[in-house]
Formats: sequence, structure tokens, C-alpha cells
Amino acid sequence: MLTFELIEKHGEHEQVVFCHDKDCGLKAIIAIHNTTLGPALGGTRMWPYKTEEEALVDVLRLSKGMTYKASAAGLNLGGGKAVIIGDPKKDKTEAMFRTFGAYVNSLNGKYITAEDVGTTVHDMAYVFMETPYVTGIPVSFGGSGDPSPFTAHGVLMGIKASVKHKLKTDSLKGLRIAVQGLGNVGYHLVEYLHKEGAVISVADIDKEKVKKCVEKFNATAVDTDAVVTSECDVFAPCALGAVVNDQTISKLRCKIVAGGANNQLAEHRHGDALMELGILYAPDYVINAGGLMNVFVELEGYSRERAFEKTTQVFDNLTQVFTISENEKIATHRAADRLAEKRIKSIANLRQHHHGRMARPFSTLKEMTSRQK
Ligand code: NAD
Repeated sequence: MLTFELIEKHGEHEQVVFCHDKDCGLKAIIAIHNTTLGPALGGTRMWPYKTEEEALVDVLRLSKGMTYKASAAGLNLGGGKAVIIGDPKKDKTEAMFRTFGAYVNSLNGKYITAEDVGTTVHDMAYVFMETPYVTGIPVSFGGSGDPSPFTAHGVLMGIKASVKHKLKTDSLKGLRIAVQGLGNVGYHLVEYLHKEGAVISVADIDKEKVKKCVEKFNATAVDTDAVVTSECDVFAPCALGAVVNDQTISKLRCKIVAGGANNQLAEHRHGDALMELGILYAPDYVINAGGLMNVFVELEGYSRERAFEKTTQVFDNLTQVFTISENEKIATHRAADRLAEKRIKSIANLRQHHHGRMARPFSTLKEMTSRQK
């Protein structure tokens, strides 16, 4: 398919920028999906894409996803994403990331980048040498560092909102919660759940991580194959995508699916099926927005306390999603999209009536440009 046909097919993007530098070997694409709510923010993925078409489709899809995520999170951010074509294990150089940074800078803040799959905070430190429009840089550079404790805190808030909605209780005490994946997000989540008095089961392919959670948080170890279908109040996927699929869906024995992993539904229809089964699903991009909220606080001048405070918003965001789902009799993943689209539309109307001016013109970026290099 031709480039413009592909762009047209994958959503109404505002701008797609192809970045090429022969000397350092950079081949990157920046996609800006929508900036109605604010500058387009989204990480830079580095991946050995087999074709340029594959890279373009990925960046178009991911940038659109960021528009929805930021909107449903209630943040004044738009959606964007970048991909660098290359093998993160052997193709990275300082010159490549600095050249990429120069391209980001040329967009004057319309796009703000961050780390993603295949890139690290250290790569972002190179990007930061050429542009202030980068977040998630190391703490030593004035950044917010690892987002996962914030993502996990948001997930905890989302579990609380789901439990309140489905089980009509404010407390997690005594509820059985099964956590799949004990990495950056899953481990912190287990720690928070332990403090809340939940009865926790855990599974990870890394046995050391399981052992640690069993010893520190009194969790019960469950087999990695069994965790998805274990009997529990809440199943919290924090490892892989597509855990709700044709093979697992009829075997689920939970009342709620609420966890941090991205793309939990193999396909949209699996969200509809969860609704039919009476299982409440907390849409992934709404419940795992704590990391994005943390980065947003970084743009405003970082405070760890404020970032934690901000992640509590996940509770209200999900409650809104559940209300839309009930009122409009649609599955929660569709209700989340509706919430996100409605907010963008209403703010677009406001802009139209007020000559396109932002009430608070990227105050954030003033902070960023003044940060110490
Ligand atoms: P991570 O790589 O640190 O952790 C993933 C864990 O899952 C690892 O411990 C791994 O051993 C385990 N795992 C892999 N396959 C498994 C299996 N089959 N069964 C059980 N465990 C398995 O990743 P993370 O940063 O904790 O992110 C987890 C998920 O949350 C991902 O889907 C990620 O995209 C999403 N997410 C993360 C953040 C964040 O702030 N880190 C933000 C939003 C979304």
C-alpha cells in the first residue's frame, strides 16, 4: 500500500514526519495523531521492523492510542509516538539519538518524546542534549525516573474503583487478587495490595521474583499457566498482552479483570464477551495511565508527591467509564473510547469559540526549556 493511503487508513493524523540521516544511520518516523488537548506525548520505540510499512503502521496505531489514553486520563496532552527502525541491541549510537533529538526539536514542542520498548532513559539523555522536548529522563537530569511505582499506584486505584462498582465494597481486605507478572509494575502492585490486606496469589516465569513476593508479602505462588484461570475476585494482568483471548475467556473464574498490562484484549470482541459473562473489565489504557500522569507532572516541574496524588485520579476516570458503560449498555472498553472522544470533542469546541487559544499555554514547556542541560 502507498504511504499516504496507509496514513489515511490508520486514522486522521495531524502530521507524520520521516527522519533520515545517512551518516548516523537514523531512520525514524514521528506520528502526531491529535493535539487538541495539548502537545502530543508518546515514547520512542526502537525495533528491527522487517519493512518500512510495518514501522509506519505501528507508529500510526500507537500514536492514536496515546491520544485516547491521555484524553481518558484527563490530561492536557495529545497523542504522538515515534519509531526508530533498527536493532536496539546493536544499532544504537550517540549520534543517532542526538540526531533524532534534533528532529524532535524541529517540531518546537508539538511532539514530546520519552523512552519506550527498545529505548532507555540513557538514550533519552542523548535526546535531551538536542531538545528540551523529552520526558522520562534520569532523575539526575531533573526527570522523574522510573514510572512503574506510579503506574502500579494507578492500577491499585483502578482495582479499588472496580471492586466498588462490582462488589459494592470500599475495602480490598480479604479479597483474593491474582497478579500475573511481577516485573516493575506487578511487584509494586503486590506491595500496595499487601498493605490493603488483600489475599494475593502471584505468578511469574522468573521464580526468584515469585519467591520474593511469597516471602515479603505472604503471597501464594500459582503456576504461570494456571493464574489466568484461577478462582479470584480480581485477576490483574501485569505481564503480557492478549491474555483475554479465545482460549482463556470461557475458563476465566474471576469477577473483575483489572491490571497494568497493555493490550489485554486479544480483539475488541473479547471485551464484549467479558461483558456478556458478567466479568467487569477495567480498560487497560485507563487503568495503567499512572505512568503517563507521572510524566505529565514532570512537564509541570516535578514533585513526587504531586505525581502520586495525580494517580488517584484513575479511580474517578474508571468510575466514569463504568457509568457510561451502564448508561449506554456498551462494554467498558467501548465506553473508555467514548469518554476519550467526548472530551476531545468538547475541548475542540471550546477552542473554536475562543480562537484556538490555550487557557494555559503549555506552561509546562517553559519549565522544560529552563531545565538545566
Ligand atoms: P516488566 O518487563 O518489568 O515485567 C513483566 C514481568 O512479566 C516480568 O517479571 C516477566 O518475567 C513476567 N512474565 C513474562 N511472561 C510471563 C508469563 N507468561 N507469565 C507470568 N509472568 C510473565 O514490565 P513492566 O514494566 O512491569 O510492565 C508490565 C506490563 O505493564 C506491560 O504490558 C507494560 O506494557 C505495561 N505498562 C507498564 C508501564 C510502566 O510504567 N512500566 C506503564 C503502562 C503499561
